[in-house]
Amino acid sequence: MNLKEIPTSPARLELENVSAGYNGTLALQEITFAVPHGQRVAVIGPNGAGKSTLFKALVGLLPLRSGVIRIHGQTLRQHQDCVAYVPQREEVDWRFPVTVRDVVTMGRFGRTGWLRRPSPADQAVVERCMQQMGVAALAQKPIGELSGGQQQRVFLARALAQEPHILLMDEPFTGVDASTQEATLQLLDRLREERVTVLVSTHDLDLAARRFDVVCLLNHRLVAYGAPDEVFRAEHIREAFGGQTLSIDGVIVVDQCCSGEEEPGHVHGQAGGHG
Ligand code: ADP
Ligand code: MG
Repeated sequence: MNLKEIPTSPARLELENVSAGYNGTLALQEITFAVPHGQRVAVIGPNGAGKSTLFKALVGLLPLRSGVIRIHGQTLRQHQDCVAYVPQREEVDWRFPVTVRDVVTMGRFGRTGWLRRPSPADQAVVERCMQQMGVAALAQKPIGELSGGQQQRVFLARALAQEPHILLMDEPFTGVDASTQEATLQLLDRLREERVTVLVSTHDLDLAARRFDVVCLLNHRLVAYGAPDEVFRAEHIREAFGGQTLSIDGVIVVDQCCSGEEEPGHVHGQAGGHG
């Protein structure tokens, strides 16, 4: 799909010269891009490139050093609630003593407030979202007792319960079983029908090329942004992944093994040569 063919709508996500970081360092530098309403964006880049930092900035967990984030043309603060975030597994304290239903109910707090009891309507949304993600039977279980795939489904259910316009998923395909990966992909298809804008970070470059409208290639700065054919060019991949790439017969191979759970991602060096 070509970006230019997609009609832009005022309801969209925009980043303008966004910089963010920790202590003395900038993990993200002057990032500018805009996502039209309802698009599916894969965020890729080497370990430490700033993918998780981008998501934390987008959900308001990390203050910006400079730049601006706009949602529906207004600043993030005015629209924080319409952005849902599924954190990377490592970011969550799984020992925290909450049940599956508690976690999914947190998705409603933006609407109910922390102190008010969820209304019957809120509770109905929570039940529906647990059912959609196949975790309703686990509702009373402490989150720490679940498998990695089940925990991920619970966090997806929480994000759905928020009824977001924009959903951010940080590495949802890493460290989960095949059926959870498939359930996540099916959810992406359903969200497309509902015109929810989705940003997903992933190490799976093949999946990014095949299943996403747009690819955002990061390495602290924005290396490339656009349709997969435009982004998956040898020069962009080399610029972002540097020493982690190897060229074999014109095919660029990216070694991302340092994440511990990945097969190396394979990307054709020629534009349009993938998938
Ligand atoms: P990615 O998700 O692409 O692997 P991150 O956004 O997690 O990258 O990290 C970007 C950079 O910010 C890295 O250099 C990382 O070491 C640094 N960083 C991430 N989180 C913190 C933190 N809490 N404190 C200090 N530095 C951090
Ligand atoms: Mg990360």
